[in-house]
Amino acid sequence: MGIKEKVVLPVAKRWISGVDLNAALEDAKGTNSRGMGVVMNFLGEEITDQGAADAQVDEYLRLQQALADGAVRGFASVKLTQLGMDSDEQAMRRRFDKILASAEKLTQLLWIDMESSSSTERTVSTYLDAHSSHPGLGVAIQAYARRSEADMKAILDQGGKVRLVKGAYREGPDFAFPTKAEVNKSYERLMTSLFERGDGFAIATHDGALVERAKALAESSHAKFRFEFLKGIRDELKADLVKSGYAVSEYLPYGDRWWAYSKRRITEHPSNVWLLLRSVV
Ligand SMILES: Cc1cc2nc3c(=O)[nH]c(=O)nc-3n(C[C@H](O)[C@H](O)[C@H](O)COP(=O)(O)OP(=O)(O)OC[C@H]3O[C@@H](n4cnc5c(N)ncnc54)[C@H](O)[C@@H]3O)c2cc1C
Repeated sequence: MGIKEKVVLPVAKRWISGVDLNAALEDAKGTNSRGMGVVMNFLGEEITDQGAADAQVDEYLRLQQALADGAVRGFASVKLTQLGMDSDEQAMRRRFDKILASAEKLTQLLWIDMESSSSTERTVSTYLDAHSSHPGLGVAIQAYARRSEADMKAILDQGGKVRLVKGAYREGPDFAFPTKAEVNKSYERLMTSLFERGDGFAIATHDGALVERAKALAESSHAKFRFEFLKGIRDELKADLVKSGYAVSEYLPYGDRWWAYSKRRITEHPSNVWLLLRSVV
């Protein structure tokens, strides 16, 4: 066992459902029993080896079948770079279509995570193309990205589904709004148009002020939406929303490629650096 597994994994288990499918399914059942749906992601990104990308598809098909067999309320969310988008876009699309076909056969939704700016254009165009014949497909849109207003308009024009997030990657000012205040303003703007024009969307933020704003917007909208949260963050807020009757889902990532995801969770909130340090000393 390496130093990362010894030191970081015990802390990272706050945010991940375990390193294998069985552990993740147990976790998912727990989430369901607390009144929430699940969005499950098999951890992996920037995979360029074709065999490794094929193996990701096998795991997603296993995951989708296991959700159906175990009567777990939820569905999968996939990253296109884990399906080999950076090395062979056509092969990625063939892999993605297999996961999409399985979702349809099992009557599950399927979502696409949004990754760093180097893949935004390809992710949005794959989404728009696939969604035209698969209405149960959704995609994450990042409020920090300057282009997101135009992307969201194109998606909503086509009747697509959006998971609105702030954005988790380090990006320069050409691509992303540089201040928290601008990102929050952009989130609010995009969220307002979701409540005006969207349906089946997800408000995915732990920001209490934005959650309150969403509740206010929902009062004058007929749109179907749900709140989505990451595992291990703001559990009390999740419980309060469930108690108040809102649809809530928890995003549960799992698998042994947990490092890149955990690094983003640790660095986005200073308290997590202390948590990590405390676990070592
Ligand atoms: C369901 C879901 C799916 C996501 N999918 C994507 C995706 O596809 N692409 C993408 O780029 N990003 C994705 N994200 C991550 C997102 O972009 C943000 O990085 C993350 O949610 C933190 O932003 P925030 O909206 O919670 O607001 P922030 O302003 O960062 O946080 C608001 C409050 O939430 C709490 N909080 C937030 N993060 C943490 C943390 N790590 N540890 C402890 N407390 C914390 C704190 O109380 C903080 O004050 C997703 C997020 C969610 C909830």
